[in-house]
Amino acid sequence: MKKIAIYGKGGIGKSTTVSNLSRALAATGKTVMQIGCDPKADSTKSLVGGKRIPTILHTLKEKKKSTKLEDIMVVGDGGVLCLEAGGPTPGIGCAGRGIISAFELLEELNAYEIYKPEIVIYDVLGDVVCGGFAMPLRKGYSDEVFIVTSGEMMSMYAASNIAKAVRQFSNREYASLGGLILNAKNIENEGELVKKLSTELDTSIIQYIPRNPIVQKAENLGKTVVEAFPDDEMSKIYMDLAQKIIKEENDNEK
Ligand code: ADP
Ligand code: SF4
Ligand code: MG
Repeated sequence: MKKIAIYGKGGIGKSTTVSNLSRALAATGKTVMQIGCDPKADSTKSLVGGKRIPTILHTLKEKKKSTKLEDIMVVGDGGVLCLEAGGPTPGIGCAGRGIISAFELLEELNAYEIYKPEIVIYDVLGDVVCGGFAMPLRKGYSDEVFIVTSGEMMSMYAASNIAKAVRQFSNREYASLGGLILNAKNIENEGELVKKLSTELDTSIIQYIPRNPIVQKAENLGKTVVEAFPDDEMSKIYMDLAQKIIKEENDNEK
């Protein structure tokens, strides 16, 4: 089982990228589990027809100890196993604590043993990399971290902070930084700016994803691009990203 965490600033395109990546991985025959770790709880929306699925935190609050896997997991397009950690009531509680509770519950319910996902992808908000939001980096929850960024200052600032957080745990052999995913916003010199950042962070840009209105078109249909427009150039880009992730998985196993 390979576990990857995809971090990035809010609104940068994490969920879009992660959902398309999950769907692309599923198209290659992989069993994929996608876990949304953003209080927005819309990570898996485009895999389940544009609706929202019950969050783990909310379900735990309602059903407590009687919560079952079927209450919190929805099988989405391509068989992707979809989960959302959820978030606290605004102004009360800790979002990071929610992520921890969600992870603990998945372990208690033996989610990984029962469904045997080959690839688990955590879609994590990276604006604040506090202890809670760093949870997917800790204690072996993820092997590798990828950061979605554009060339905008604020998203590169967040990327830099996330990379620092990853390094905090690297000496304990937890997660390592796999690279940056450049989700373009078409700003001036974007490629050069993100290339410079990757050098500063001692990593590389593993995928360039252009800005493309087909993403919204698919979103309006409640679908990923890979599901709705499999022959489009954009689907090929997400498939390409999936192949890179699979290749790394195979290389690491050697
Ligand atoms: P995040 O999960 O980082 O908060 P989302 O994935 O929800 O961000 O994306 C925010 C918005 O940006 C969405 O409306 C999505 O359609 C759009 N978007 C993301 N990536 C692209 C892209 N490559 N081209 C066009 N629109 C995109
Ligand atoms: Fe929780 Fe992080 Fe918010 Fe602190 S900053 S309350 S640890 S989510
Ligand atoms: Mg999101």
